[in-house]
Amino acid sequence: MSGSAADIVVLGAGHNGLIAAAYLAKAGLKTLVLEAKDQVGGGCGTEELTAPGFRHDPCASVHGAIQAGPILKELGLERFGLRYIFPDPLHASVFPDGSSLVTWRSVEQSAREIERFSPKDAAAYLRLVAFWDRHIRDVFVASRYAPPRRPGELYTLLERREAGFEVMRLMASSPLEVVNEFFEEEHVRLHVLKASLQGGPFPDQLGYGLLVFGTGSGARHSFGWAMPEGGSLELPLSLVRALRDSGGDVLTRSEAKEIIVEDGVARGVITGDGRRFTAQKAVVAGLHVRQVFLEMIDHRWLDANLVEAFQKVRTGLSEVVLHLALSEPPRYRADFGVDRVVHCHVPETMPDLLAAYAECRKGHLYARAPFQVFCQTLVDGTRAPSGQHVLNAGRYVPYDLSGRPESWREIKNQLLGEEIERVREYIPNVTEKTVLGKAVMTPLDIEAHDAMFYRGDIMGLGHVLSQEGHLRPHPSISDYRTSIRNLYLTGACTHPGGTISGAPGRNCALTVLGDLGLRVSP
Ligand SMILES: Cc1cc2nc3c(=O)[nH]c(=O)nc-3n(C[C@H](O)[C@H](O)[C@H](O)COP(=O)(O)OP(=O)(O)OC[C@H]3O[C@@H](n4cnc5c(N)ncnc54)[C@H](O)[C@@H]3O)c2cc1C
Repeated sequence: MSGSAADIVVLGAGHNGLIAAAYLAKAGLKTLVLEAKDQVGGGCGTEELTAPGFRHDPCASVHGAIQAGPILKELGLERFGLRYIFPDPLHASVFPDGSSLVTWRSVEQSAREIERFSPKDAAAYLRLVAFWDRHIRDVFVASRYAPPRRPGELYTLLERREAGFEVMRLMASSPLEVVNEFFEEEHVRLHVLKASLQGGPFPDQLGYGLLVFGTGSGARHSFGWAMPEGGSLELPLSLVRALRDSGGDVLTRSEAKEIIVEDGVARGVITGDGRRFTAQKAVVAGLHVRQVFLEMIDHRWLDANLVEAFQKVRTGLSEVVLHLALSEPPRYRADFGVDRVVHCHVPETMPDLLAAYAECRKGHLYARAPFQVFCQTLVDGTRAPSGQHVLNAGRYVPYDLSGRPESWREIKNQLLGEEIERVREYIPNVTEKTVLGKAVMTPLDIEAHDAMFYRGDIMGLGHVLSQEGHLRPHPSISDYRTSIRNLYLTGACTHPGGTISGAPGRNCALTVLGDLGLRVSP
């Protein structure tokens, strides 16, 4: 079979690969993306998982992170059909005692909600969000939309800024420590902590205290908790249109098998069905580092330490996600009053939340583990037949269940029933009559969905301090360049990591362009 030649060949049409491709094509480079599956998007997709006409996001749902950066505007994605919905309220928590707490886009309105539980905590919430606005927000955004800072650089920068030492102190703390420091009342603590743990960090994970200001509060208020109308897939689809508009293209059902390296320089790619694609200027891999460095490159071109490091990457928590097609809108227990809220957390009690994470560490499940519920159709009627709804409920779990990932296969059927029971405790109208279709994804299903989710890690490569910033994915290749000339890496395994931020894609593209002496045209 024949292939073709391009300036740039990008591997993987996840949102990061596509964003990199769109920037490179916009700069005038002939850019071709190869995608293994018959649909683009990777972890940013939408599928009929339960019943015809019900469009679920199997992986990412919220596109909050990408709202913080310049990508949507720079690539003009609205022009290519992308429209974001910004739900308000942002999210709510419902508690076993029948109470609920709502966070609105307005910080003041959210503080008034908190006041019902503790006036002191309401004041603390205002203080916390003001601290984010004044001292963290701009450093946070700038750090994400640029290659990782060199060791020490962030500290030097913070040292010169007002409150810089306080930012360092909070950053070194765990989310739990920060929440306990700011708030005194348990519902408030749970509400802010559960939101801060979005994406899978542990509550007591040192070095992640700023998540309380970012994901847990300030970033949501600043950038919104956005979802694309029509589902997550709309982002990659708009990127494909933008790419084609600049003369680039995507080939689906084109699985990269081998990266051609000659004299230490990446020259192209061979697909599983034997097609050969020549890359005249660069190969950009938007895949997991293990795929690229353990499977696709002849190891004689690689440093043995790098290969060994990628054999031992650290992974974080995975998820169990229940997807339902419903004949009517979810109705929470009457006392909650959150029926119009798209995203609800069920943090349970503080002892339960902490016990659930402690059990995860041991490879166990916990019966009253916290979970979260999304019902996008409350604000987006395009995802289900008229008057009907999609709902998903997810909780963080270990990959090595009882020390054996295969255990997930054995308990999957039972799990489906159990997850529905858990949801029904809080949303009683989830019954046999209203459930028109159901599916559950275990960590094994998540891993099988997309090779980026190695060992079910929803962030691609564990977010632990030893794999962040200039250490991600490895200290020797943390700036999107690799040890092989003309081979670049993007995607969730590169800085700043997982989520729908697009930052790895943009940062990588700007690095490639810089090396080629080019710039993106306006
Ligand atoms: C259950 C779950 C829930 C999540 N929820 C959220 C959320 O709400 N918000 C959020 O911001 N993030 C969320 N995430 C994380 C987010 O989905 C990922 O961080 C993000 O999708 C990674 O994007 P990427 O472009 O780096 O990689 P991917 O999207 O994984 O793209 C990689 C692409 O490469 C393709 N590919 C693989 N192998 C090959 C090959 N050999 N040749 C060619 N192509 C290949 C894959 O098919 C895929 O299309 C969630 C993840 C999971 C699993």
